[in-house]
Amino acid sequence: MNIIDIITKKKRKEELTFDELDFAFNGYLKGEVPDYQMSSLLMAITINGLTLKETINLTELFIKSGKCFEFEKKTADKHSTGGVGDTVTLVVMPILASLNIPVGKMSGRGLGITGGTVDKLEAIPGYKVKLSEKAFYEQVKKISIAVIAQSEEVVPLDKAIYALRDVTGTVDSMGLIASSIMSKKIACGANYIVIDIKVGEGAFIKTKAEAKELSSWMKKIGKHFGMGIETLITSMDAPLGSSIGNALEVAEAIEVLKGKEGKLYDVSVEVASHLIALAKNMEVKDAEILAKNALQKKTALKTFEKWIKTQGGNLSEMKISDKLIDIHSNIDGTIQKISALNCGKLAIKLGAGRENKNSKIDYSVGIKLLKHEGDTVKKGDVLAELYVNDYDIELTDEDLKLFVIK
Ligand code: URA
Ligand code: CA
Repeated sequence: MNIIDIITKKKRKEELTFDELDFAFNGYLKGEVPDYQMSSLLMAITINGLTLKETINLTELFIKSGKCFEFEKKTADKHSTGGVGDTVTLVVMPILASLNIPVGKMSGRGLGITGGTVDKLEAIPGYKVKLSEKAFYEQVKKISIAVIAQSEEVVPLDKAIYALRDVTGTVDSMGLIASSIMSKKIACGANYIVIDIKVGEGAFIKTKAEAKELSSWMKKIGKHFGMGIETLITSMDAPLGSSIGNALEVAEAIEVLKGKEGKLYDVSVEVASHLIALAKNMEVKDAEILAKNALQKKTALKTFEKWIKTQGGNLSEMKISDKLIDIHSNIDGTIQKISALNCGKLAIKLGAGRENKNSKIDYSVGIKLLKHEGDTVKKGDVLAELYVNDYDIELTDEDLKLFVIK
C-alpha cells in the first residue's frame, strides 16, 4: 500500500477501504505519513466527500486510537457544535443527574468565538477540571454527575488531524466533522446522546441544509455503534443566553436552574427532554414534564450545587468584574437582531476568550445583554453592560455593533 495511491484514489472520487484509511490516518499519527501528504488527502476528502461506509470506518479508527471509558451504568451526554452564550450543558447535566440518569462528561475549551464548558467551570474558584480516572468514575457512581476536561488519552488521532485541518482549510467536511465529534462521544462512554447542531452566523455551520446533512450522518454513525441518539438543529444567529463571558454564564445558568425563562431555558429543556426520553425509553412530551419539574422543584439546582462542591468549586467566591461600561441606544426603534458573531468577537476582545493559543482568559469579564430581539427601545436606553477589567480598553464603533435597531 502507498499513500500516493490512496490520495489519487480519493482524488478520483473512489471509495477508500478500511485498510487504506488505517494506513493513511494511523500512518500520520505514527509520523510515517508527513503533513503535506495528509493535507493533500484531507483536501481530496473535503472536496470529494466521504461515503457513509468510509465515515463509519474512520470513526472506528479514531475511537481505537486511544483510551475508551466505560461506566457501570448507562450514561447520557450532550454535544453542542458550538455557540455564543450557549450554557446549556451547565443546566442540562444537573437536570439529568437529579433524575438519576448518570452523566460522566468530558468537555472542551472555547474555540474561536464559541465558548467552552471547561473554561466556564474554571471561572468557579477551586473547581477541578482534572480528576483521576478513579475519582471520575467514583463521583459519577456516587452523585451521578462529573464534568472534566477532555482527556488527552481519548482519540489522539482526532487531536492530530483536527490541528492539521484547522490550518489547511479542511474543517468543513461533513464526514470529517461527524467522525471527529462522534468518535469522542463514543470513546467517552456515552450510551445516550443528543447533538445540538448550531446553525447561523455565530456557528461554524451556516445553513440549515448543511445542518440536516450533518444530522443524518451523526445519527447513522451513532446507531451503527449502538447508541441512542437524537439531533436537534437550533439557531445561533443571536447569542443563546443574555450573558457572554465565563463567570457571567455560570451565574446565568444558575438563574435558569432557578427557573428564569428565555431561549437558554427553552433549548436546555429541549435537550434534556430528548435525553430523558432516550434514557428512560419514554415519549419526549412526558420527558419534558420531568425536565421542567426538576427545574421548578429546584432538584436540578440542588444537584448542580452538590456537583460543584463535590468537585472542589466554591460558587460564593466566583468573581464578576465590578467595572461596568453601559452601551446605550443612539436611536428610538425596535431591536431587529443581536449579532452572535459580534458579541463573540467583543467578548474575546474584553478577555473572555482566547485571541491565540497562549492567551489567558479573564473569567470575570464579558457582556450582559439587557434588551432582546423584538424589544422596543428609546434613544439613551441601556442595551447592554460590558464587564471589563480596565476602563481604558479601546472600543471602536465596529466592536460595539451588537444590535441592529430600526
Ligand atoms: N468539533 C469537533 O470536535 N470536530 C470537528 O471536526 C468540528 C467541530
Ligand atoms: Ca462541548
